[in-house]
Amino acid sequence: MHTLHQDLGVPPAVNASGKMTALGGSVLGEGIIAAMSDAARHHVVMDDLTTAVGREIARATGTEDGCPTTGAASGVAIAVAAVIAGTDLSRIEALPDAGDAPCEVILPRGHSVHFGAPIRQMIALGGGRPVEVGSANKVTADHLSGAIGPRTAALLYVQSHHAVQKGMVTLAQTIEAGRRHGVPVIVDAAAEEDLRHWPATGADLVIYSGGKAVGGPTSGMICGSAALMAACRAQYNGIARPMKVGKETLFGLVQALREYGSATPGGHRARMEKLAARLAELPGITTRVVADEAGRDIHRTELTVDAEGAGRDATRLAAELAAHGIHLRDHQSLTGRLYIDPRPLRPDEEERLVAQLTALLEGEGR
Ligand SMILES: *Cc1c(COP(=O)(O)O)cnc(C)c1O
Repeated sequence: MHTLHQDLGVPPAVNASGKMTALGGSVLGEGIIAAMSDAARHHVVMDDLTTAVGREIARATGTEDGCPTTGAASGVAIAVAAVIAGTDLSRIEALPDAGDAPCEVILPRGHSVHFGAPIRQMIALGGGRPVEVGSANKVTADHLSGAIGPRTAALLYVQSHHAVQKGMVTLAQTIEAGRRHGVPVIVDAAAEEDLRHWPATGADLVIYSGGKAVGGPTSGMICGSAALMAACRAQYNGIARPMKVGKETLFGLVQALREYGSATPGGHRARMEKLAARLAELPGITTRVVADEAGRDIHRTELTVDAEGAGRDATRLAAELAAHGIHLRDHQSLTGRLYIDPRPLRPDEEERLVAQLTALLEGEGR
């Protein structure tokens, strides 16, 4: 069979590295694909659909209302625009020029992350002026409170493995500071798995990616109070217009949220124990199963590569596998460690990975 993958010369990749935007986000389940093709077959009143999807987001997150987005990145821009312009059409149409409205968005310096693009830029897209406080590895509640003033529009808290994990002001302290000064708190929880936990902390606007933990199409969402979500959706008449979400994506996101609610997370530990035992037989490789560094219910197989025994170091081994279309989690390869993430990996792809790794380490070219 001739496929577009072949025509384009871009074959499907085996993803053992996790939820990676660079590898296309999530592979979709059949139910989600069916929902998206159903959407593609009909016209629909988009404003009504967007409002209805907001209700589905509210149900999944335990909030009053929601706003669908193209991703968590646009979610940040739209949330910032919403706290600056509200539902005032003139202000909405003037953004990213905030005029005389308060527009400073305060964030801990250790949260000023790059997730593929800088979060500062997403704040600026929404008309905000990022104000980083403290140092890269030390930010206290006093840093936040001291920076809050009449020009403050919001506090931003980034819940992510990208952020500095120690020495930072806590979310509880951030919310307390926001409450005390009457300033809304935005939480970017893009890749988090527990959709109800982060709004329950008292944060005013919480942002998730739809293509990461939720396993949906490339999409995202904001959730929070009815008033703030109305303000978020109103931005589609302004800066969010070039970030509009198509009907197919909206249907896919809803179906993914419904399936996510009924799925049991985790459960990959036993599978990874088996894989680790198999790969430990290979020359130059030692393995163990490790829990996620950000505390999510994910277990990965860690490979430690002994360059002498394996005939190449971890970085080179990862590159050789990638050349065969197999992508491991390699951000720590300089320390000699590679990781296999079970979530996006089908059993047949896992076998392909084992076979290719065995061929490289035991076969020719050693
Ligand atoms: C991935 C990520 C984003 C961007 O999410 P998209 O859905 O790809 O737009 C934003 N913030 C953080 C912390 C992320 O990890």
